Amino acid sequence: MTRPIFAVIDSVALKHNYWKAKSIAPKSRIWAVVKANAYGHGIETVARTLYDADGFALLEIEQAIKLRRLGFKQPIMLLEGVFSPAELEVAAQYGLTVVIYTHQHIEWLQQAKLTKPLSIGLKLNTGMNRLGFPAELVHGLVRHLESCPYVADVMLMTHFANADEGKNGINWQYQRFCKATRGLNLPVCMANSASLIAYPDTRQDWVRPGLMLYGASPFPNMTAVQLGLQPVMSLVSRIIAIQLLNAGDGVGYGTTFLAPQAMRIGVVACGYADGYPRHAPTGTPVWVAGQRSQLVGRVSMDMATIDLSHIPQADLGSEVELWGRHISIDEVAISAETVSYELMCAISERVPIRETTLSACAF
Ligand SMILES: *Cc1c(COP(=O)(O)O)cnc(C)c1O
Repeated sequence: MTRPIFAVIDSVALKHNYWKAKSIAPKSRIWAVVKANAYGHGIETVARTLYDADGFALLEIEQAIKLRRLGFKQPIMLLEGVFSPAELEVAAQYGLTVVIYTHQHIEWLQQAKLTKPLSIGLKLNTGMNRLGFPAELVHGLVRHLESCPYVADVMLMTHFANADEGKNGINWQYQRFCKATRGLNLPVCMANSASLIAYPDTRQDWVRPGLMLYGASPFPNMTAVQLGLQPVMSLVSRIIAIQLLNAGDGVGYGTTFLAPQAMRIGVVACGYADGYPRHAPTGTPVWVAGQRSQLVGRVSMDMATIDLSHIPQADLGSEVELWGRHISIDEVAISAETVSYELMCAISERVPIRETTLSACAF
């Protein structure tokens, strides 16, 4: 038998979340963001499930080509653009949409001789100061692009720094975008998950949700359940050993946990080399044998230890959910002082991805 850890992907939940995004932004087309191996969920599994998505957005050109070879015909956007002039030709051949955000990109476009014209996402910086041209340059840039023989069409884009932070999180950036782009009649794409949910004005021609598709909440003060989202990934494993502790016995590296009384401890085949956060402290919730319990002691590379004292039915082989249907990934993220994005992306290659359409059991 193989090591009993799996990332179980619920494709029904994934579809549900996609349609939830659609129902919130019914007039927008959706770039389903599948970067970072679909936030750790497996890009092939996710793309096959969302086969009718309006478009896919990701980073690596190799992954985009893979989707084309699998037969996906919808627009595919390279969110970080291309990294050399030669890649422009590859992007054109495969019909990819390329985000541009530096003058160097424009030079490459002007000098390129492409077999087909390219679709361009023109990224405007409205205050996040990461990628994008100063928004105020947009009119000149568009004129420039429209005179390039190999530009098929242009979509205007920006990205918000604080869409997850309540009332006025995006207004200043949104105003700057609107002011700068006034008079241009081009499709617009600005919303990530948080913005799509919280700011109706940002549901433009296109939206680009990632996190919400995977069933986690982009907001610190709202749960995925409250947002009507369903968890897509369950990280599950099994108990591979049991230890009986006396009061005063320690568990794991550093002996950071000392048993206050006699305890029964389960050793789970899941550690930080699987992507489970090493910083998850004692008390981080887990689900075992149909009940909630918690981590005790430090997470090590290949194992974690959990309290079974109050769960007599838990035994060798009992299933453990580290996050998923019963324990929300957001809750684990808060406990480990990170965000669910990071937990999802950290799932390592040694964790096999399994697809399920069953809603009752994890395996
Ligand atoms: C990752 C990413 C998104 C998706 O963000 P979520 O918060 O996961 O919805 C959208 N736009 C850009 C530019 C991104 O890099």
